[in-house]
Amino acid sequence: VIDARGVTKSFGTNTVLRGIDLEVHPGQVVCLLGPSGSGKSTFLRCVNHLERIDGGRLLVDGQDVGYELRHGKLYELTERRIARRRAEIGMVFQRFNLFPHRTALENVVEGPVVVRRRSRAQVLERGRELLDRVGLADRASAYPSQLSGGQQQRVAIARALAMEPRLLLFDEPTSALDPELVGEVLDVMRDLARDGMTMLVVTHEVGFAREVADVAAFMADGVIVETGPPRQVLDDPQHERTQSFLARVL
Ligand code: ATP
Ligand code: MG
Repeated sequence: VIDARGVTKSFGTNTVLRGIDLEVHPGQVVCLLGPSGSGKSTFLRCVNHLERIDGGRLLVDGQDVGYELRHGKLYELTERRIARRRAEIGMVFQRFNLFPHRTALENVVEGPVVVRRRSRAQVLERGRELLDRVGLADRASAYPSQLSGGQQQRVAIARALAMEPRLLLFDEPTSALDPELVGEVLDVMRDLARDGMTMLVVTHEVGFAREVADVAAFMADGVIVETGPPRQVLDDPQHERTQSFLARVL
């Protein structure tokens, strides 16, 4: 689904991504770990068409992110077409970004109604199913302020699923949560993984990565320094940067 080769990205003189090589295959869960400022969020934003890359090649479902290949040349896509491609990718952020004046169910169905122009009746039924899937069938009419952080994050996951994405990106989905609420969100993610959802997850939850990920990748200073089966990367890291990072978070 994702094929990144030598992806680079700078903000002014600050080169944040220095040649990212990473593959995510259909049905895989890839966990991306690494110190603060290493470029993890920037990479996810590139995958989700929120940033344009400067160099290398970044393909999602075989299509260049932000560009279109015509006659062997890459052309920048229009905002409209970028938005259409972005709608095929779900993203869950550290902060849940729910609409505060809409109920859980309204938050979930917002995307399909506005972007896909589906009928409300059709979408509401599906929205209820999704809330059920994240364990919130009974909170459909609650407003975000009436929900715990863990519940809000689960609504955010249901909202991402409502667009029927082929890929789900998570950017530290549990790091804004109180410790006792982390588990319920990871449980939902674990279920999605089991159902075959393709996921790229930035997380510091080493236990989750070890248990759920097919591949763990460790990133530092804008490059993937180490990648492989989680047991190898997390329990027997070869690279000194990975070792010192893990020593700090474990
Ligand atoms: P964290 O673990 O703290 O979330 P991260 O690995 O996600 O870190 P990024 O958020 O990708 O790191 O940031 C990497 C670098 O890119 C930082 O130096 C940051 O200041 C810079 N950066 C990110 N976004 C922008 C932007 N829109 N404009 C300028 N600089 C940016
Ligand atoms: Mg980040």
